[in-house]
Amino acid sequence: MERIRAIGVRKLSYAGRLVLIKSVLSTLHCYWARIFILPVSILNKVEALCRSFLWQGKEISNGPALIVWDTCCKTKKEGGLGLIDLRRWNTTALGKYIWWIAQKEDHLWVKWIHTIYMKGVNWVDYKPNTGASWSWRKLCGVKEKLKAGYVNDWWLQQGHKYTISAGYSWLGTSNNRVAWTPFVWNSLSLPKHCLIGWIVAHGKLLTRDRLYQMGICGDTICCICGTQNESHTHLFFECAYGKACLDLLNGFFQMAIPIDNFMHWWLKIRLKNLLRKKIIAAGIQSLIYNIWEMRNRSRVDGVLLRPEKLIEKILQNLRLRLQVLHSTGKISDNYRAWI
Ligand SMILES: [Zn+2]
Repeated sequence: MERIRAIGVRKLSYAGRLVLIKSVLSTLHCYWARIFILPVSILNKVEALCRSFLWQGKEISNGPALIVWDTCCKTKKEGGLGLIDLRRWNTTALGKYIWWIAQKEDHLWVKWIHTIYMKGVNWVDYKPNTGASWSWRKLCGVKEKLKAGYVNDWWLQQGHKYTISAGYSWLGTSNNRVAWTPFVWNSLSLPKHCLIGWIVAHGKLLTRDRLYQMGICGDTICCICGTQNESHTHLFFECAYGKACLDLLNGFFQMAIPIDNFMHWWLKIRLKNLLRKKIIAAGIQSLIYNIWEMRNRSRVDGVLLRPEKLIEKILQNLRLRLQVLHSTGKISDNYRAWI
């Protein structure tokens, strides 16, 4: 709470807030792993706090989230942000104790449970008495959720040991992969560009067409050109402004990035040099971010950079970013040939 209240935190971008949430959550679940059971009301409060902070930059908010929390808690490959699902984490942290009971680990309390509660009954089939304590019934409830994993030995095959992370993946990770992950989470892009790219991939930026549907504004006219309906496909890049910027970027990269389906186009293009492909993705991501920023600035104070100026700024920042990555050994010298 104190970190969220700190001065200046509200001014963070979505990406900055995401880093803070991840650090808060990781501190919390390190703590949880050492304790027994956390009430659902606490989990709900922490989740609500993180949700409003991510989308609104404050502790409490009744406003709508751009993207539902369940999606945010999916892995990046599944289209999420890789945030911890608190309930699932708590369940799988408790799974450690279930595992100890199943394995009859050498702990005094495990021996006590076998002697007092289970009395020789197989752990998988064990059902607690109605008069048993709340915490014991809760723990048995966790066992019911995880027992298919124990019975089928899903994680036993990994080395005969239960780990919280293996249990966490087993309990909730699906095989549903989104195609656009490599584009959105491109390692050369700035985190704040990735976050806006992620929201665009979900089609959830608050463009005028969506605001109009929500009853928040009276028309759907584009904030930049003032003539067409503003939607994701219009801004990126059917709008005259977006198209002019994209034409300039195409000229620079000597490519033919289309005005629609650009993510699909990028995924399909075959280039000999992977670094070049990533630089192109970083350029497109930066363009998306900057057009969205221009759109917001033109709505608030009427400022709109000329496409030439905007592309100059994007390329300057991209060069700086690549120089930094090169100086830390993350990319090779080859980057100079492509920028
Ligand atoms: Zn427009």
